[in-house]
Amino acid sequence: MPSSAPTAGNARGGARPTGRPLPAHVRVLVVGAGFGGLGTAIRLHGAGERDFLVVDKGHDVGGTWRDNTYPGAACDVPSQLYSFSFAPNPTWSRSFSPQPEIQAYLQRVARESGVLDRFVLGTTVLDIRWDDARARWEVETSAGAVSADVVVTASGGLSEPRMPDIDGIEDFAGDLFHSARWNHDADLTGKRVAVIGTGASAIQIVPELAKQVAHLDVYQRTAPWVMPRRDRAYTRAEKLAFRFVPGLQKVYRTAIYWGRETFVPGFTVSAKLAAPAKKMALANIDHAISDPDLRRKVTPSFEIGCKRILISNDYYPVLARDHVDLVTDPIVKVTGNAVVTADGQEREVDAIVVATGFHTTEQPIADHVTGRDGRTLAETWRADGMAAYKGTTIHGFPNLFQIVGPNTGLGHSSMVFIIESQVAYVLDALRTMRQHDLATVQPRADAQHRWNADLQRRLERTVWNTGGCSSWYLDSHGRNTTLWPRTTFTFRKQLARFDLDAYVTTPRAGLARSTDSTRTHDTKKVSA
Ligand SMILES: Cc1cc2nc3c(=O)[nH]c(=O)nc-3n(C[C@H](O)[C@H](O)[C@H](O)COP(=O)(O)OP(=O)(O)OC[C@H]3O[C@@H](n4cnc5c(N)ncnc54)[C@H](O)[C@@H]3O)c2cc1C
Repeated sequence: MPSSAPTAGNARGGARPTGRPLPAHVRVLVVGAGFGGLGTAIRLHGAGERDFLVVDKGHDVGGTWRDNTYPGAACDVPSQLYSFSFAPNPTWSRSFSPQPEIQAYLQRVARESGVLDRFVLGTTVLDIRWDDARARWEVETSAGAVSADVVVTASGGLSEPRMPDIDGIEDFAGDLFHSARWNHDADLTGKRVAVIGTGASAIQIVPELAKQVAHLDVYQRTAPWVMPRRDRAYTRAEKLAFRFVPGLQKVYRTAIYWGRETFVPGFTVSAKLAAPAKKMALANIDHAISDPDLRRKVTPSFEIGCKRILISNDYYPVLARDHVDLVTDPIVKVTGNAVVTADGQEREVDAIVVATGFHTTEQPIADHVTGRDGRTLAETWRADGMAAYKGTTIHGFPNLFQIVGPNTGLGHSSMVFIIESQVAYVLDALRTMRQHDLATVQPRADAQHRWNADLQRRLERTVWNTGGCSSWYLDSHGRNTTLWPRTTFTFRKQLARFDLDAYVTTPRAGLARSTDSTRTHDTKKVSA
């Protein structure tokens, strides 16, 4: 089944059928129907806004959880926290829910929130272009054009799969697919399979694949730190209590939230504070693996936390099994039926699963957004580095809000907490625009510059920058443009109020008189 095809019981029923013409204009256009887009839509609706549309290229809501259908897919932040604060789910089966449950949760929340008639699915946003004279975005989609006063991109930080650049991979004759585009038609039972990568998806896939394949080669470039996964099924009594004891889920959620926040100093203050975690991760290896050579191969050579810390109870035990090989020699090429490593070994396989992650430091949507000065967001970021104000708004791109923008990612807690903080900020911005009758808002260059200078100064001393690894957190200049280097409650506090004084604005009334009125209000002349 293609990952984005409509599924039984999906949320699509209430969405506008693909092919129905788009309205000529909406106040707010949201790109993406994952946690970010759905959360934005529900909050907009709750605030009484009806003039909005959510567009997603997939045929269902869910984003990440619609697309990642690989065996073993599950969240790695407990579901009590990895869910909307306004939509607790008493039926989670266990602490770390599997993908089908998370997807079903998002479909249900979408259906029950009454916003689905604002969703246009199966529609790709191709071009988002600022029209300065009209102070609005002109948007080209695969279903036609629409203009919008405000665009909210919730197109995902981990949405576009990254394929590895390996010589000959396109000539491989067997099944070859990315973990985020799992080919469910490929029957891997009894086959020889290679998994390329040992990141968060791979360590969930490997134990599941090992149950069904004849032989599994796991290709590792860098050994990850893997902690035990404190997962368990909720009892019937717990589930009943979640349903009927008011506030109980909130207590679980709060306890998990604060437990996770205690990890922050280990990332941002001193790696020494993460020593207990490192000890636990090393014990995880010792318990599962007795072969000294394999132990050496799986022991990371960098500080814990530098790359994403993974959690699994079955990854190491599976690597120790006879029909599973961990290959650490670099891959030099792929032939029609084999993977060839630098030591000259050729390992024949029937299928290759690529689990090499996503485009993170170059967000694909950035190529499709053109701002005031005619440059795309990608061009702007290529020249100046990926940056935004408060991870959400960008100088030169008026009335554009990005959910999960630069430096909003987390190494320790739920992205839904970040998303909800950003959505609250967007809503306050819209309220403020209405209240002051503003046609446009964009962050002042100096405000954006100060925000990022402070972030980069804080990031300099974090384990992500100093821990001796190269990771997808860092861009090609070694700059960390993905992670938030402070507690999540600080993030929420920073975004609690739309801070109009950090913005250049255009009054709606001035629009008719001036086609370049934004500049007339940009009183602060500062370089970004
Ligand atoms: C396997 C996996 C496991 C994860 N587990 C966790 C976890 O346990 N905890 C956690 O906090 N985070 C986790 N994450 C991160 C996760 O991505 C976020 O938590 C969250 O789901 C992001 O939501 P989003 O709405 O921002 O993006 P997404 O869910 O990626 O949704 C983006 C949507 O935008 C659409 N889109 C993109 N471009 C266009 C376009 N041009 N036109 C139209 N539509 C477009 C896509 O089709 C997609 O539906 C995980 C990620 C992955 C990949």
